[in-house]
Amino acid sequence: MNRFQLTLIYLSLFLYIGCEDSKESKEIEIVTPVDTVKVEVFPALGHDGPYQSGNIYYGRESYIEYHAGNIPIILSAPHGGRLTPDEISDRTYGTLVTDLNTYELTKTIMDSMIIRFGGYPHVILCKLKRTKLDANRDSTEAAQENTYALRAWQEYHHYIDVAKEKIKNTQGSGLFFDIHGHGQNPDGFYDLRTWLGYLLSSDELDQSDATLNTNLYKNKSSISSWVDSSSYTFIEVLRGKVSFGSILDSLGFKSLPSLNDQSPAGMRYFSGGYNTARHGSRNNGVISAIQIELPKPGIRDNQSTWSNYSRAINSAISEYYLIHLNRNIKN
Ligand SMILES: [Zn+2]
Repeated sequence: MNRFQLTLIYLSLFLYIGCEDSKESKEIEIVTPVDTVKVEVFPALGHDGPYQSGNIYYGRESYIEYHAGNIPIILSAPHGGRLTPDEISDRTYGTLVTDLNTYELTKTIMDSMIIRFGGYPHVILCKLKRTKLDANRDSTEAAQENTYALRAWQEYHHYIDVAKEKIKNTQGSGLFFDIHGHGQNPDGFYDLRTWLGYLLSSDELDQSDATLNTNLYKNKSSISSWVDSSSYTFIEVLRGKVSFGSILDSLGFKSLPSLNDQSPAGMRYFSGGYNTARHGSRNNGVISAIQIELPKPGIRDNQSTWSNYSRAINSAISEYYLIHLNRNIKN
């Protein structure tokens, strides 16, 4: 048993101290058989609620930022952070690359939504650099035994859970977009298409429409409940002309899968990660999820490209709602 594990055991014995009515972290001293350690006891998650739409909430040390919303859209950007606090040591395994400008891009999409839809999306942003926390992994790989990184990870998913619960209770269904960026292949080739992840692997997407258009694959996907609400079939929603990819394509942003680019066909592709699996409708639930992997050129470069892209994706989301649910985002 290492010092971290021992401290955790002792900490669990003392945790009730922080769960009274405290809204602040407390530092307590714990004498273990090995030594005396100072431990920060965090307040219970949710201590900063209730969450009012239009307001911004920050987790401990402002590592996590939550914009509380009132429309049935959740935006998440787990890999766009830049903070590198000394209290969190660098992660030693897993992917460490930042998705450049996705923090800024996601906030621009949010601002554009507020104007366009007349309501607030729920937006959850990780401000920690990915070398410190990967909010799109399970807690073990995400925080790698750092207490402060783990707390930030818990806050990140707590805020998403709060958003999902509010949407479930008010609108009944909604969409979760996990926003990422992809770069050049190791050989220098850059795929300039947006990769949309629905939890179907490259090999699965390479199959025929007839094979994929079954309940087996629909239920495996992160948009299962969205398809149930639509009058279109799974394959039409996945890569037909009414798919999110085809709508983005028609607005000038080539996407995979879509009518024109049905499957990866041997190209590099990301099918959706931890957030898409946890927060989408693979295991039922009323929120469906799409992972959006954006190339940098033409989208993530600068204020001008991300403003332009924000208008396009919001048009796409609006159209996607109208086609499949036969209604506007904000009635
Ligand atoms: Zn990413």
